[in-house]
Amino acid sequence: MSPVSPEIRRALPLVAVVAVASVAFLVAAVWSLATGPPKGSTALGALALLGSAVIAEAFPVPIEGVSAGRTSLATVFIVAAAVIYDWPTAVVVAFLTMATVEIGRRRAPVRIAFNVGVYTIAAAAAGATAAAFGEGSLLMLCIATLVVSTVFYVVNIGLLGLLFVRLRAQPVLQTLRGTLVSTTVPFAIMASLAVILVGLWDNSPYLAIALVGPLVAIALYQRRQHDTVDRLRELDRLKDEFIAITSHELRTPLASVYGAAMTLQRRELADEQRESLLGVIYRESGRLARLVDQVLWASKLETARGMPEIENFDPVELVDDVVAAEHAHLPPTVSLTVAMDDAAPRVAADGEKVKQVLVNLIDNAVKYSTDRGAIEVSLRTVEDCVRFSVRDDGLGIPLVEQQRIFDKFHRLDPDMTRGVGGTGLGLYICKQLVDQMNGRIWVASREGEGSTFAFELPAA
Ligand code: ADP
Repeated sequence: MSPVSPEIRRALPLVAVVAVASVAFLVAAVWSLATGPPKGSTALGALALLGSAVIAEAFPVPIEGVSAGRTSLATVFIVAAAVIYDWPTAVVVAFLTMATVEIGRRRAPVRIAFNVGVYTIAAAAAGATAAAFGEGSLLMLCIATLVVSTVFYVVNIGLLGLLFVRLRAQPVLQTLRGTLVSTTVPFAIMASLAVILVGLWDNSPYLAIALVGPLVAIALYQRRQHDTVDRLRELDRLKDEFIAITSHELRTPLASVYGAAMTLQRRELADEQRESLLGVIYRESGRLARLVDQVLWASKLETARGMPEIENFDPVELVDDVVAAEHAHLPPTVSLTVAMDDAAPRVAADGEKVKQVLVNLIDNAVKYSTDRGAIEVSLRTVEDCVRFSVRDDGLGIPLVEQQRIFDKFHRLDPDMTRGVGGTGLGLYICKQLVDQMNGRIWVASREGEGSTFAFELPAA
């Protein structure tokens, strides 16, 4: 058994009180319903409210700007059960709603007991309030629904606030005020929806069904909008990270080029030193050019300019060319070998773009290799495709990150704690290019053991 944390231990007395009280209310409600069984139409109506409450609880709606998380609209149906029928119906609907969803979500028993208990107690309080109003005009019914919604809300939020007080050991008033402020908007929405539902139901329960359409549409729209905003926020964060990384990446080679140029200009140097400084300028300006190219490529792909031209080329020749060029600037501790199916058919793709992808994958394999790296480039025919692979025995990539590294700006090590720089654009560009050439690209990797990046393109 996992040890109980001190926070949970602090909250246990409150959970126990809530659970015992809710069981008492439930037993009383079931007893009341059993002694005076409801009519068939009442049972049917209550079942419809229960079904709606379960669906609403299972699919909460995110409301932009509400920090308390997603809002469940189940309250609307529980309040309606209290106003339209009676407290026992509301208690049973509330209990079954929360129990079904929480058990379905496989929550911890303590959490299930508390959440189910809170709903049951709030429903009992709402039902008692509704009973106090009795029968009346439509206006009275609307006012009653508003008051009943408020009672449900206050009991619900009050108990949740008390739980936060216990869990976080915070002052009561401050916590309750915080919880209240963050849930006012959802409360206003739910109270008005409850009034509309009860008003319609009072005319005819069938009329209330008309509410399903707009409710579902609003819920779906809100979810979609929230997901989009979340994605935009993530992109914004990645862009900030990208600017920080790119500035750093630009400054490092620039400083080397500047330093080397200054030394060359000012001093009388031996030929050997002059050669080495010129080498620094050559290497570092190449790095700068590659960086600027990546940024340009990413923006080009975004605006769909520079679409690849599908021609056909010999993949064996292409791999030979790329590997020969890579050998020219390979660190001495890294080996690069080739394993090729010499009979591979010609490939229907843009040769220049394929070179670009392959160079990027080999450069990454070098960059993310440990001190002594062994890289193998291979070429195989797989059915009617040609598969290019680059295998390294470097750092490897955790499983959860293997899809995301193809996203724009995504890096495993944004703080560059390992000292390996990059923009997080390389693999994004590779994927875009391979996709445009009707191919697919993927990675197989184990953390600490190395990675194999592969892409397939159709044979000509
Ligand atoms: P970067 O410019 O950061 O190298 P990429 O888009 O090429 O951008 O790669 C994204 C991330 O994927 C890298 O930051 C790195 O964490 C990871 N990665 C890419 N190739 C490899 C590899 N061969 N081995 C381990 N990690 C890799």
